[in-house]
Amino acid sequence: PVRTRFAPSPTGFLHLGGARTALYSWAYARHFGGTFVLRIEDTDVERSTPEAVQAIIDGMKWLGLDHDEGPFYQMQRMDRYREVVAQMLQEGTAYLCYSSPEEVEAMRERMRAAGDKPRYDGTWRPEQGKTLPPVPADRKPVVRFKNPLDGEVTWNDVVKGAITIANKELDDLVIARPDGTPTYNFCVAVDDWDMKITHVLRGDDHVNNTPRQINILRAIGAPLPEYGHLPMILGPDGQKLSKRHGAVSVMEYPAQGFLPEAMLNYLARLGWSHGDDEVFSMAQFCEWFNLEHLTASAAQFNNEKLAWLNNHWIKQADNGRLGELVKPRMLEAGAVFDGAPDLATVLGLMKERANTTNELADAAMLFFREPQPDAALLAQHLTDAVKPALALFAERVQTVEWTKEAIAAMLKEVLAANGLKMPQIAMPLRLIVTGQLQTPAIDAVLQIFGRATVAARVAKYL
Ligand code: GLU
Repeated sequence: PVRTRFAPSPTGFLHLGGARTALYSWAYARHFGGTFVLRIEDTDVERSTPEAVQAIIDGMKWLGLDHDEGPFYQMQRMDRYREVVAQMLQEGTAYLCYSSPEEVEAMRERMRAAGDKPRYDGTWRPEQGKTLPPVPADRKPVVRFKNPLDGEVTWNDVVKGAITIANKELDDLVIARPDGTPTYNFCVAVDDWDMKITHVLRGDDHVNNTPRQINILRAIGAPLPEYGHLPMILGPDGQKLSKRHGAVSVMEYPAQGFLPEAMLNYLARLGWSHGDDEVFSMAQFCEWFNLEHLTASAAQFNNEKLAWLNNHWIKQADNGRLGELVKPRMLEAGAVFDGAPDLATVLGLMKERANTTNELADAAMLFFREPQPDAALLAQHLTDAVKPALALFAERVQTVEWTKEAIAAMLKEVLAANGLKMPQIAMPLRLIVTGQLQTPAIDAVLQIFGRATVAARVAKYL
């Protein structure tokens, strides 16, 4: 059974790269009806915060990336790590090292000076027939992993292809500090083992950790998962994605009016492809997702494409749901919903052109505030030639059937009777009824406002 995990370090918000890693791990588990595990890697106590844990959980919740197991916290698994350290010491795959930090630094210096890669020189590494130095008094040892001296570590990375690292490039890693606390790569290996992870998808900043984790997994007799290292996400300018490119935290996107389905659709395509398909639901993605079509090159973030997808998903979204999303912003802008047109109906009309729900909220405001037409604009558009047409319009408003089509036909008759063209009546009507010149089609706008409101607003200008 496929078991994947998302293992964020809670040192900040959930960023776009992390969200994409989570999405792919989640989709892979869903594709196979497997299990998706959430694991919080909080052993860096200096930098980990409960707020960051919450931010990650909130981000995943907004995206709908539900986990089947967890969240597990590494800080709550300390006993387990100590147990494995003890077992490795007993089995001889790890050893106590009494070299002081100064001694380790000195040996590294020597190796650097000799042009070698600095590493632990193996003073305390037990070997057959080797006598170890006397244990120094009052010194607490670290525990080091007994990394194989020869041979190499090879894995077939599902993104990058075969990767091989010579064991002599790898150090005898410290797996437990003098106070007994375990170190990063060791915890990850033990967790992936205990949680029976079959596929590890993560950022390619972890490529260097993988051979170390593989060696530890082998030493403890654990099966190896498949590994896939995703290239990072770059900004539109090809530089590493950062604050100056705009939002890097996933949760800034709902605040800007993006829908989760747009963000998911965007991230799904940013590093994976399915022919020419650009627009798809998460159900479709989970059905399609595979490891063969992950892209090996870094992906460039493109705000226009995300906006385009967001517009698509806004058009697909239920108008009632959109209403809940736009309401807070509209209330803040002074919208009055009492006695105004139905919000969902308005959004149905306005959403065609909205790239974000914030844009949608702003566009919809024209239906929910008192119009205050600019006097100069009004004078320009409501000329003496137009006034008789407005009077006829006001009269016809009383009796016309209140459908978009009937209103459009009535407007044409009013124009014909006065020898005018459509903009000559549409512009002043827009100003009078909405206070602005830019609106969707006038017949649709009038229909939504309703007969009473249109009549009352026009009457003021007769
Ligand atoms: N905790 C690591 C990170 O946030 C991920 C480790 C992993 O996926 O193995 O970058």
